[in-house]
Amino acid sequence: MAPRIGTMISDWYLKNQRSLPWRVLWSKTKDPYVVWISEIFLQQTQIATVIPKYNLFIKKYPNIVSLIKADEDEFKSIVSGMGYYRRFANILKAAKYIQSNCSKLFPKTYDSLLEVPGIGPYTASAIASICFEEPQAVLDGNVERVLCRLCNFQEPPNLPAVKKKLQLIADSVLDGKSPGNHNQGIMELGQLVCKPTNPQCHLCPVKTVCKSYELGTQSLAPAKKIRKEFKKCYVDVYVPRHVSKNNVNTYGIVLRGESFRFLKNTKGFYLEEVKKVEKVSLGYEPTFKHTITHNKIVATVIISSSKVGEDGYEWHSVDSLKKYLQTSFDKKVLDIICSRTSENG
Ligand code: SF4
Repeated sequence: MAPRIGTMISDWYLKNQRSLPWRVLWSKTKDPYVVWISEIFLQQTQIATVIPKYNLFIKKYPNIVSLIKADEDEFKSIVSGMGYYRRFANILKAAKYIQSNCSKLFPKTYDSLLEVPGIGPYTASAIASICFEEPQAVLDGNVERVLCRLCNFQEPPNLPAVKKKLQLIADSVLDGKSPGNHNQGIMELGQLVCKPTNPQCHLCPVKTVCKSYELGTQSLAPAKKIRKEFKKCYVDVYVPRHVSKNNVNTYGIVLRGESFRFLKNTKGFYLEEVKKVEKVSLGYEPTFKHTITHNKIVATVIISSSKVGEDGYEWHSVDSLKKYLQTSFDKKVLDIICSRTSENG
């Protein structure tokens, strides 16, 4: 039965696939670069948000060579607003890796793709199957849902043991003759038909072999993910202010290195984690809330003209910071600077 599921999904995909920019580009160019960039952009981001940014990015950087020559500030401004900046920093690292280790040629196998910075098992499977027809089954949230329902598997898919089982099921149903179409098909099926709520089973190509459909248990499979508890923590954000020679207010930002607990290896405002008991509120320091992975942060912004600890700072006007800052955390700090100092840029 299992291989039949694979061909049912591939056949359905061939008739029902959406025309998306990266699919159009891939069919024209057969360049794995365009698929790779789409997979990075799609990580934890909705397709509707990705499309305009992807189009802009590919126009500016149509291939690895153009990416290697990218001006970092311009690159940042193009991906700005997409959140989760580390994946984009990894694109630049990956381009340099491919230039130095692969003579600018994109790696062609699952194993060699895994060597590239920022490419994990999911992305390697997607590229290897779509571009090189290597039989590697992808497993993302959409695929997990389809598989859990096909098998009436009522367990939380984010538990490592459950993930392992799901990968085995994904491997066993994969259409080995057409892994690229199969992988895109099963993801598309999860996005368009086997949705989290109200799955459109009457449109589904595998309804005749779906256990949840047969038993009417679609809402029970998969079980809800087990969420990690959030931890509350406090940070102080230091914003040194300096009036430039032209009488413009400038604000200092730093490169937050490896020693920073949050937002490491990004440029932005200096911050320090503090214990709640250490917090001495002067009553007028503005605060805001922000979540980073499993931390619910309460940040206090301290704007000061003090010269203490200004080594290593870069000084920017509000206008320049608006273009330059990448993380939503730093953008919230900038909003506070603007509201506190009546600077609107
Ligand atoms: Fe999902 Fe319904 Fe298809 Fe089963 S029949 S895989 S529940 S859409």
